[in-house]
Amino acid sequence: CGIVGYVGSQSALDVVVAGLKRLEYRGYDSAGVAVLADGGMAAAKKAGKLANLEKELVERPLPTGSTGIGHTRWATHGGPTDANAHPHLDNAGRVAVVHNGIIENFAALRAELAERGHELTSETDTEVVAHLLAEEFSACADLAEAMRLVCRRLEGAFTLVAAHADEPDVVVGARRNSPLVVGVGEGEAFLASDVAAFIAHTRSAIELGQDQVVELRRDAVNVTGFDGRPAEVRPYHVDWDVSA
Ligand code: GLU
Repeated sequence: CGIVGYVGSQSALDVVVAGLKRLEYRGYDSAGVAVLADGGMAAAKKAGKLANLEKELVERPLPTGSTGIGHTRWATHGGPTDANAHPHLDNAGRVAVVHNGIIENFAALRAELAERGHELTSETDTEVVAHLLAEEFSACADLAEAMRLVCRRLEGAFTLVAAHADEPDVVVGARRNSPLVVGVGEGEAFLASDVAAFIAHTRSAIELGQDQVVELRRDAVNVTGFDGRPAEVRPYHVDWDVSA
């Protein structure tokens, strides 16, 4: 339902949780975050309100890192449980993904992954993406390229945002029939399903086009089509007023 991604020099967890709060008005049934820190991926997710997730983060704090992703979920496949909440990770726990929308061909992909030895632990349509990304990344060591390859295999409507522990300064996003906006800051960059999530930090935004993948770094934003061709980006200034 709501998606936030961050790469920069602030605490990613703080930026992502604050961003998710800005998206709470959209309604959701669970929430989760993942942060890259100390060479690994650390995640927390909870059914219910963001307050439940915040309580969990107090009881079991995540290490501090400056790359992170977050999600508020509106369940379509699998009930609103902790296990079904996003982010979803691969079996090695190196890649994390959050997703808005529906992946129509998830059952076939799930069966294919199970045959190759992957263990899927949720009832969601989303989890297949984490496993597919892990496979593609292990072959190309480039998360944006892995995302392009995976997206070409997906049917349905989706916004996806992912991070990988082996590429710790990168967040990657993709979209088809579902919104995703980039926020460009000074030495930091944001991804969100709605500019409201990052407007407190920057008003310079780029709307991602249909079937595009964005690779986000602190000081660079690179957009391509699912086919890998460079895409033209049209930055705009968000000038509407936001009240706290
Ligand atoms: N289809 C996914 C799920 O049920 C994503 C739902 C959403 O857009 O929040 O987990």
